Amino acid sequence: MARCKSCGAEIIWIKTTSGKAMPCNAKEVVYWENKDGKANIVRPNGEVVRADLEGEEGKESGIGYISHFATCPNANSHRRR
Ligand SMILES: [Zn+2]
Repeated sequence: MARCKSCGAEIIWIKTTSGKAMPCNAKEVVYWENKDGKANIVRPNGEVVRADLEGEEGKESGIGYISHFATCPNANSHRRR
């Protein structure tokens, strides 16, 4: 298990279909796929999809991971080089 260097949260690295490794929150979330959704979800197979994190029970699309950048309290420091 890796940890975020700036906030210490547990993260996992998922290789996306574009070939980049993306740091994601270690805890998976249930998502509802939605092209107008507010969240970027990385599926366990590396596909990145737009989704909502809440929706109608029983209609969820599956389980995926949220980019840690979206939730890191120190996200700005990730953008600095
Ligand atoms: Zn962080």
